[in-house]
Amino acid sequence: MVLRLSQLFLRTLREDPVDAEVASHKLLVRAGYIRRAAPGIYTWLPLGLSVLRKVEDIIRQEMTAIGAQEVHFPALLPREPYEATNRWTEYGEGLFRLQDRKGADYLLAPTHEEMFTLLVKDLYSSYKDLPLSLYQIQNKYRDEARPRAGLLRGREFIMKDSYSFDVDDAGLDASYSAHRAAYLKIFERLGLEVVPVAATAGAMGGSKSEEFLFPTEIGEDTFVRSAGGYAANVEAVTTVVPDEIDFSNAPAAEVLDTPDTPTIETLVAAANVIAPRAEADGGPWTAADTLKNVVLAVTLPTGERQLVVIGVPGDRAVDLKRVEANIGAFLPIAGEIGLEQAGEEDLKKQPLIVKGYLGPGLSLDQALLGAESTTKLLYLVDPRVVSGTAWITGANQAGKHVFGLVAGRDFSWDGAIECTEVRAGDPSPDGSGPLETARGIEMGHIFQLGRKYAEALDLKVLDQYGKQVVVTMGSYGVGVTRAVAALAEANHDDRGLVWPRTVAPADVHVVAVGRGEEIFQAAEKLAADLEAAGLSVIYDDRPKVSPGVKFGDAELLGVPTILAVGRGLVDGVVEIKDRRSGEAENIEVDKAVDYVVNAVRNQ
Ligand code: ATP
Ligand code: MG
Repeated sequence: MVLRLSQLFLRTLREDPVDAEVASHKLLVRAGYIRRAAPGIYTWLPLGLSVLRKVEDIIRQEMTAIGAQEVHFPALLPREPYEATNRWTEYGEGLFRLQDRKGADYLLAPTHEEMFTLLVKDLYSSYKDLPLSLYQIQNKYRDEARPRAGLLRGREFIMKDSYSFDVDDAGLDASYSAHRAAYLKIFERLGLEVVPVAATAGAMGGSKSEEFLFPTEIGEDTFVRSAGGYAANVEAVTTVVPDEIDFSNAPAAEVLDTPDTPTIETLVAAANVIAPRAEADGGPWTAADTLKNVVLAVTLPTGERQLVVIGVPGDRAVDLKRVEANIGAFLPIAGEIGLEQAGEEDLKKQPLIVKGYLGPGLSLDQALLGAESTTKLLYLVDPRVVSGTAWITGANQAGKHVFGLVAGRDFSWDGAIECTEVRAGDPSPDGSGPLETARGIEMGHIFQLGRKYAEALDLKVLDQYGKQVVVTMGSYGVGVTRAVAALAEANHDDRGLVWPRTVAPADVHVVAVGRGEEIFQAAEKLAADLEAAGLSVIYDDRPKVSPGVKFGDAELLGVPTILAVGRGLVDGVVEIKDRRSGEAENIEVDKAVDYVVNAVRNQ
């Protein structure tokens, strides 16, 4: 059916919505594709829904092509399965929790690992049933701390999530590779350039993991890549660790008075006056020779607050996102945590911490310092702090620093953690050249969950020897509504949206410009003929709307081909314009349909 603008449920807007910062958000609202219902929650209007369905179809086809089967779960789920995997707690404030009239706990699913695992457990019991991949395209709910950018980070959004079930690791590898390939195809068909990057598994647990990032300045993810092909999310970058150094001949550490040196800058300046380093030993001290100890406050999923001290070379800043992604292994319980610099209140409770002069070994040196407190703080270090490296660092006394404090000899640590900023120019971990940094939006995420969920929910099958084995799983997500936004982000100009043909809400937008009866008759016929030729057509048949408004709307809506029937009609021509290039041609009326059909086929 021809979509007539006189009938279509559509109001375009001249003004950007006040809460919109990014182009996709502004344009999707202005062009009448979506409307905001609540923060991070959107209503889909006819044109938006049409684009959304096309994106979904491409995803469905590629999932089917790798043998994945579609199912559909409820979004409203009982607490119990999420309790079994501890995610009821782990998800923290991100989870929408609610109760039914009897007081039983429910949640709106943020993702569906538990339900898929239980479904397979319910119906399958033998290795012969595997491998299996199931997927759904469904609403997800996350009470995001900062819903932003319209569809890009919503609190209700659509995800395609699939899950693979295999009897052994080789099977999981194969399922993972199949999904990886399908994802590359999906994004290629959508015309979205994505970079697959190594990722950390986050709250899901598991091991191997990659994200598909769409590079853009407005992205919230920072990633790095090297000319040699390495690419990783900043959270997942591993530091090139220096060799350990033999410290048997290293001079003893020495505590020196360094009054008024609470910052790295003042410390370095003072060090070069008090204890200058000889040219032969490396020349003047720099920030990289100091060990900066930063106190962070972790809020555990239980709500409890715990302090952690992190020691990093003084020339590097701590990157809280990297700490957050990697600190899980050192905490008493898993799950979503809060993380920030420790505040005055936190520090007051730790009398041993001398602000500006904090050194490692707090817990070890308590007796030495004559302190009464027995608090032992977790002490983690940047991986560059290897055994034998010598540092200038706080002496845990106001106005004093230690020089030549040797790691592994004079102090120890509870673990090494990827925690400092990754800088452009840092070496890539695989030796493929220096890293450059870029920003991107996560479009998809694949990971090998392994046996975590199957173990928690007891999903086992009989293997070929009749032995019960725990199934190994993968989980794979694509942000479907986010993809619509990313497509709008990638395909627009200052006049509006410029959809690629694969997802455009129509193939051609016919505009009747002017007043004459014959113009409307000709436009009407062209619209009907284009439709009969198999194209989807939007027809602007509004009788009393000015040409300026009609053209403005056509450009705002972003259909790839605009066919204008107007003044040229007296000479037997119509104007056909390519929305992307802006190129327009006058074509004879009776050749117009073929011309447009060709344009659609050839793009
Ligand atoms: P992000 O890091 O952006 O918060 P995530 O790592 O939490 O995403 P996953 O749990 O891996 O997301 O979900 C799979 C996919 O779902 C993501 O790759 C993304 O495309 C999409 N997605 C996740 N959260 C949102 C959201 N709030 N709004 C829209 N899409 C989302
Ligand atoms: Mg993710």
